[in-house]
Amino acid sequence: MSETIESIKCLIIGSGPAGYTAGIYASRANMFPVLYQGTQPGGQLTTTNEVENFPGYPEGVTGPEMMLELQAQAKRFGTDVRDGWITKVDFSGPIHKVWVNETKEIHCETIIISTGASAKYLGLESEQKYLKLGGGVSACAVCDGFFYRNQEVVIVGAGDSACEEAHYLSKLCSKVTMLVRRDVFRASKIMANRVINTDNIEILFNTETEEVLGDGQLVTAVKVKNNKTNVVHDIAATGFFVAIGHKPNTDIFKDFLEMDETGYIINRPGSSKTNVEGVFVSGDAADHVYRQAVTAAGTGCMAALDAERYLAAKAS
Ligand code: NDP
Repeated sequence: MSETIESIKCLIIGSGPAGYTAGIYASRANMFPVLYQGTQPGGQLTTTNEVENFPGYPEGVTGPEMMLELQAQAKRFGTDVRDGWITKVDFSGPIHKVWVNETKEIHCETIIISTGASAKYLGLESEQKYLKLGGGVSACAVCDGFFYRNQEVVIVGAGDSACEEAHYLSKLCSKVTMLVRRDVFRASKIMANRVINTDNIEILFNTETEEVLGDGQLVTAVKVKNNKTNVVHDIAATGFFVAIGHKPNTDIFKDFLEMDETGYIINRPGSSKTNVEGVFVSGDAADHVYRQAVTAAGTGCMAALDAERYLAAKAS
């Protein structure tokens, strides 16, 4: 059943650095933005330990702390930060419609999409089981590597992320086994060479994960198969890290917005504009290249400025 329809000037969907920065700028421009936080308030950075590369924090800051500060700054200027999940949108008319948790309908003059991206998993039942149990499956070495100090771990993936994470883990763990499904890395030469030249990283090419093994609570080993020889064997490990890329959280927009084949929203070059007037995009939902907190914040600022200019042009 639908509640009373609310009409607003500016809706921000998502609460990472892009969304909160858009909130800071939009509220200071008297757009009275409403920001829906989604299911992971604060976004991906809330699963990150230390952020050392965001300008202005010379000693570093934890991801959750930084997100709370950004949220407080957005609220200070009047951003209406709400819990809720946008489940449906309709961008077919002059007024953009969205639905919160399937029921509440909001009509928006402008929308800033900052829904970010989520880590991909293999989708194996055993992987999901130990992920949900918190028993040794992770998609973030920087967040969880600490728990596997002096232990043996397995990481799957062959891109820059996997190499970066494998190298990070090699400094904490006694051994890192890296599973590469083809006979080459996708990663850049420099990143691949870094793992190749690290003594406690063993790289298994042409190797795929069959199953994550455990005692019902914790991971104990990973069953792998060589896809050339079909030989199957177990690798003892207490941690299983997945680094096979990210998926942008853009499914609900696919009927209305131009996207690439992965689902990243295509913005007009040099701006946050999408193919729909009044709908803007910021952060990782449109960025598979940089994916940094600082670039997300920068594009959040751009989206708010673009939305403000759009409203000003409409009013004149
Ligand atoms: P990528 O899409 O580049 O790589 C994903 C990797 O995961 C590929 O090697 C792929 O294998 C592998 N993979 C995918 N699905 C499976 C599966 N089901 N089983 C096994 N392996 C699988 O993602 P990244 O997150 O690594 O990088 C994304 C972007 O971010 C890139 O542009 C990258 O350059 C950039 N980046 C840059 C960094 C830096 O420069 N410091 C750090 C991190 C990311 P296959 O190769 O066989 O397809």
